Amino acid sequence: MRQIILRFSLTFILLVLAGQLWAQASPAWTEPFPPHRVIGNIYYVGSRGLASYLITTPQGHILINSSLESSVPLIRESVEKLGFHFNDVKILLLSHAHWDHCAGSAKVKEITGAKYFVMDGDVSVVESGGKTDFHYGGSPETLYKPTKVDRVLHDGEEVRLGDTVLVAHLTAGHTKGTTTWTTKVNEGGKPYDVVIVGSPNVNPGYKLVGNQAYPQIAADYENTFKVLKSLPCDIFLGAHGDYYGMEAKFARMKPGGENPFIDPTGYQSYVAERERAFRAELEKQSR
Ligand SMILES: [Zn+2]
Repeated sequence: MRQIILRFSLTFILLVLAGQLWAQASPAWTEPFPPHRVIGNIYYVGSRGLASYLITTPQGHILINSSLESSVPLIRESVEKLGFHFNDVKILLLSHAHWDHCAGSAKVKEITGAKYFVMDGDVSVVESGGKTDFHYGGSPETLYKPTKVDRVLHDGEEVRLGDTVLVAHLTAGHTKGTTTWTTKVNEGGKPYDVVIVGSPNVNPGYKLVGNQAYPQIAADYENTFKVLKSLPCDIFLGAHGDYYGMEAKFARMKPGGENPFIDPTGYQSYVAERERAFRAELEKQSR
């Protein structure tokens, strides 16, 4: 009996540690990374570890992910380095309402006056500064400045600016409003489907079975994988560069060369691998 209790406490301590480790900032999150054009009017303006995207139009720009509060000056610098004005950001969007993607949103709104569009399932989380998050709401290190949402998005809705149309796909589970963004760009007379994955990840400590704070979590992940598999994808992007091998692809960029971010096969195998990880965890928790 004592051994069992000991084993239980050890498991508990390990779980808590894993959660805390995850909640701590990774050094790559705050490390600058060269801003670069991905394709068409889509630019990477994030850090090494946290992806932010600038989508430019003659009518102003869209920014996806404000990241940490300390990321905002880095993002601003990246935008200006590319020859654009940070103050021209008119719309701020989100991959999902975790602090590493949205803690800087209040600051971005304050500097640029951009309107903040958020998927309905994530609205209360960003407006409470992270407090209503089903998993991290009670962890002070994950909280941030509450930020007012200007437009509530629903699954399948479009965000338009200039000629650019972005579609918000609800891919929940990771958070209740996790959003995968898609758009179409033209380059060299060819059309490309762009997918910016919101996050299909099951974080350490997530309860997939009997989760009172989020009863439909497993069903939401199921739906997410259905949606992700159905999306046509040429250009594979995501909330963190490591989803799509950003650094290795960036290193392969050459003037006049093949665009390394065109990776439909990489997208399909990423989604398949993440689905296997979800199923393994679900099975483990269902035993
Ligand atoms: Zn997250």
